[in-house]
This record gives sequence, structure tokens and C-alpha cells, in this order.
Amino acid sequence: MSAGPESRALFERAGRVLPGGVSSPVRAFGAVGGTPLVIRRGEGAEVEDVDGRRYLDFVGSWGPLILGHAHPAVVEAVQEAVSRGLTFGAPTPAEVELAETVVAAYPGLEQVRFVSSGTEACMSAMRLARGATGRDLIVKFSGCYHGHADPLLVQAGSGAVTFGHPTSAGVPAAFAERTVVLPLDSEERLRDLFRKEGGQIAAVIVEPVPANNGLLLQRREFLEAVREETAQCGALLIFDEVISGFRLGKGGAAGRFGITPDLVTFGKVIGGGMPVGAFGGTRDTMKNLAPVGPVYQAGTLSGNPVAMAAGIATLRVLEEEGGWDRLEVLGSELEKTLVPVLSRSRIPARLARIGSIFWISLQAGDALPRSSEAVEAAAAETYRAVFHGLLHRGVALAPSAYEVGFLSLAHQEDHVHRLGAALSEALSEAASHG
Ligand code: PMP
Repeated sequence: MSAGPESRALFERAGRVLPGGVSSPVRAFGAVGGTPLVIRRGEGAEVEDVDGRRYLDFVGSWGPLILGHAHPAVVEAVQEAVSRGLTFGAPTPAEVELAETVVAAYPGLEQVRFVSSGTEACMSAMRLARGATGRDLIVKFSGCYHGHADPLLVQAGSGAVTFGHPTSAGVPAAFAERTVVLPLDSEERLRDLFRKEGGQIAAVIVEPVPANNGLLLQRREFLEAVREETAQCGALLIFDEVISGFRLGKGGAAGRFGITPDLVTFGKVIGGGMPVGAFGGTRDTMKNLAPVGPVYQAGTLSGNPVAMAAGIATLRVLEEEGGWDRLEVLGSELEKTLVPVLSRSRIPARLARIGSIFWISLQAGDALPRSSEAVEAAAAETYRAVFHGLLHRGVALAPSAYEVGFLSLAHQEDHVHRLGAALSEALSEAASHG
């Protein structure tokens, strides 16, 4: 599928003034080839490119759009907020309201600090953990992505893995040395590290539902082991719920698994499509943060009232419309529709799903991968063909084999069926070409 003439012309202009023509790497279609569609609007479950072509969208701006594009309640809330001024750099009612909502919803949470992205949330949570414990070492898991702060861009997922550079150039070795990387799914490796270095570990950061190197659904026992080891040695457990927070339910992955972290990071859904992130924990942990404590963290646009209004409206619609239950029903319909399609395919393909997050794994084997070490690189080549086959049929998935798809409340059962039919055709086309 090639992009239309308007997309191509704009992307060529973009390439002159934006590195790679984009504001964030994976958007450039580097992993799937071809020219990206330049999008001019979105409505409900669809996006429209500058050539006027419409696509059924399962990217949802990479996760925030849990209500779909341009949901009327969110648009109205934003317009109303804008009419009162864009930013004040002072406390506002909206940040208090969103903070109260988030704190009431998430297990064990007492305070949050708002920031403007998931990256900032994870970077700040890590600094807070180091400041609060007086220790340096951070433990992360390979394939998990926590934004692009230096110490966390070590064996990371998302764009980092898509482009085959899981550790970025420009990250000083001295920084990377203070980050210990473990494989997911191995209690043995985890316990071994804690036995040796437990006293130096400030925090373990993990995506409880790792969704940046495919969807690597974890065994509960593994997450429980992480909780247990951190608690025993006085390290903080940070759940990165930038994707899972308010998507898997009000309480995120913590609520689903019944495991409460010491710190949590949010992004995406809590901003309803505006640039918002947050991190939080108990009052006792958060008292280390400036202006109360010695760990510095700040932001000119943090808690921006327009962004807060989008977040408040999004969470309100989810609550009032039984959003999480509806997404679970839609998720099971997706599973019922896609599983037979994938099992009939001549290309090995399986579905991983939790709630409204899904991933099509294009590799052989009976079990879905649970660690990035178990994810096969060869699948990326197959994905290329499937991705373009879908786009040709008016269905948009993320332009990388390692990114997940998202359902929103704007998706209906027939959208899911459309995805199933298009996927069936795209897979047999890819099989006959491959
Ligand atoms: N953590 C996770 C789990 C993420 O998926 C992402 C982004 N996809 C981030 C952190 C970084 O968020 P942002 O792109 O808003 O900086």
C-alpha cells in the first residue's frame, strides 16, 4: 500500500525540516517500509489522511484514545477550558480534581505529581526512588520501555527495539552501569540479583503488562516475586502503568493482579490525548519531593488546565458508561474473531490479549513469548507484509511488529469483524508471497 500524493508531498517537506520527517521515530514507517500516512483528522474509530482516505484505527495514538478520536465530551471539555486561558503556572481546580480521581482509583496511592509525558513520569519516579532510599541501582527488564531518560534507555523496547538499538547512543556508560537489566519471567535471575546486590537497589521498574516488545503477558508468580524481593530489601517497586493505567480498569494492572507497587507512573489515558503524565505513591514516599523534600522535579506546563480537562472528561466517560466492562466484552469478541483466523493462517500467528490491549505474534511455537529473549526477530519481516496488506484494506495497526493494538469505546463489534476479515486476507496474501 503506498501513501497518496498529498501524504507523499507533505512527508517530503517534513523530511527537510524534521529528522526522518517525524516528531517520534516509529511514525516514520522505518520498520515496515513505505511512506507514512499524514493524518488530518480522526473521528470515533477512524482516521483520515490528507488524501481523504479513511482507515479503521487500532493505533489510537499509541494508547491514549480509549474513547476513540475526538470524543464529543472530551472536545467540549477542552474547548471550555481553552476559553478560560491556556496556562497559568499556578495551582488550578482541574489538577486537584484529576489528582483526587487518580488517587481514589489506584491501589495504595495517596499523592501524585503531574508531568507532561510518560518519559518524565518514569524519569522523575526513578529520581524520587533514588532520593528516598539513598541508593543508586535501578533494575529494569529487557524489552520494557519506560521512555527515553538516559538511565532507562538500556535494552529498551518500543522504537528502541523496532530499530534494533535497544540501548541508545549518547547514553553515558557510567549511567547505563547504574541500571541492571534482567530478563522478564525469571524468578531465579531476580532472586539471584537481590541476594547479591539487594542492599544497593533503589528501585525495580517494570511494566506489569509489558507492551513495548509485543505483549509479553507475565505470570502472576513472577510479579509477586518482584514485589516480595523489593519489599524485603527496602527497594521501591515502580509499576510503569503508562499503557495499562486506566486502560485495564480503574486500578490498572495493580488492581487486576492485586499487587500494590510503591510508586506508579501514568501517561496516555489519564491525559485523554493531551500531553500528560503522572507519578505517585504514598504520602510518606512523596514527601521526599520538592517543595516538601530534597528531590527536585518541576515543569512549566505541568498540570496544564487544558490537558487536565481532557483527562477528567475521559475518566468520567469511562466511569459513567461502564467503559472498562464494555472494553472487556469487546476484547473477548476480538479474541473470538481473531483466534480462528490466526490458527487457520499458513503463517504462524497467535493472539495475545489483555482487556483492550492486543498483539499479533507472528512466530511459531505453542506458547506466547513472555520475555523479549523469546521474541523472534524474523517476525518483523512477515509483519511488514501483513501491515501493508491491512492498510490496503483500510485497517491501520502500528507500523512495527513489536507494538500493540488498542481497542477503544468507539470500536463496535463490526469493526472487530472487519479487522478479522482484513487480517485473514492479508495473512493469506503474505503467505503466498513469502
Ligand atoms: N512507559 C511506557 C510503558 C510506555 O509505553 C511509554 C510510551 N509508549 C512511556 C513510558 C513513555 O511515554 P511518553 O512517550 O509519553 O514519553
